[in-house]
Amino acid sequence: MLVDHHCHLDFPQFADDMDGVVARARAAGVGTMVTISTHIRRFETYKAIAEAHDDIYFSVGTHPHNAHEELDIPFEEIVRLSQHPKCVAVGEAGLDYFYQNSPREAQAEGFRRHIAAARETGLPLEIHAREADDDTAAILEEEHKKGAFPAVLHCFTGGRDLAMRAVDLGLYVSFSGVVTFKKAENLRELAAELPLDRILVETDAPYLAPVPYRGKTNEPSYVAHTAEVVAEARSMSLEDLAKATTENFFRHYSKAKRPADPPQLAPATARTP
Ligand SMILES: [Zn+2]
Ligand SMILES: [Zn+2]
Repeated sequence: MLVDHHCHLDFPQFADDMDGVVARARAAGVGTMVTISTHIRRFETYKAIAEAHDDIYFSVGTHPHNAHEELDIPFEEIVRLSQHPKCVAVGEAGLDYFYQNSPREAQAEGFRRHIAAARETGLPLEIHAREADDDTAAILEEEHKKGAFPAVLHCFTGGRDLAMRAVDLGLYVSFSGVVTFKKAENLRELAAELPLDRILVETDAPYLAPVPYRGKTNEPSYVAHTAEVVAEARSMSLEDLAKATTENFFRHYSKAKRPADPPQLAPATARTP
């Protein structure tokens, strides 16, 4: 089976079809999903989605786009909320200098606060880093000196230097549909180079659908297409790549439980539209 550790199932695109999304994920072999928080104040929404579906977990945190809106929420509150049995991760938090919807200082402060929460709880931090490689690496290395913390560079689009520095700190690197894009040759090279026990795959749905769905609404079932491209880059079978990334997920996201009835990967023909 596969895991989609980063999707946004609270977005309006999924509102009328959650059961369909989960059923199509299962049919494609995706047995576990984590719906990721962008606003701590929407905690109840994420919690309700996870409580309604066995296959879905959730996270708690503030997206860097909204960092300035939630700096009044103390670190202790993030830690407290994360105690929910289906809350398996912190974030997403980090630095986004591409859109820069929030001042850089606020993003950095939010990022460090979420790192502290990951360190305190042992729950991995979903890191969002866009066009901010140098500052992301600097903050990660500085914070690591205060004590190790589990984390994943989600939807990785940065350079090799950031990925390698993160791996040196014990972090994971996750590939999204972007790795399937024609121009993403550098990402496929990186996907081939990184240690197999440090990589994950995700959708970041509803955004960034992989080829052959590029431009359409993304959903967790499509993570199989991303996994297929990463497997091909590493010259390994999809089955072996799925096995490795699923092992990585359950090792790193220690609060998530393996499904009692894991789905089977769909044959390649069934995945082609
Ligand atoms: Zn993100
Ligand atoms: Zn996201």
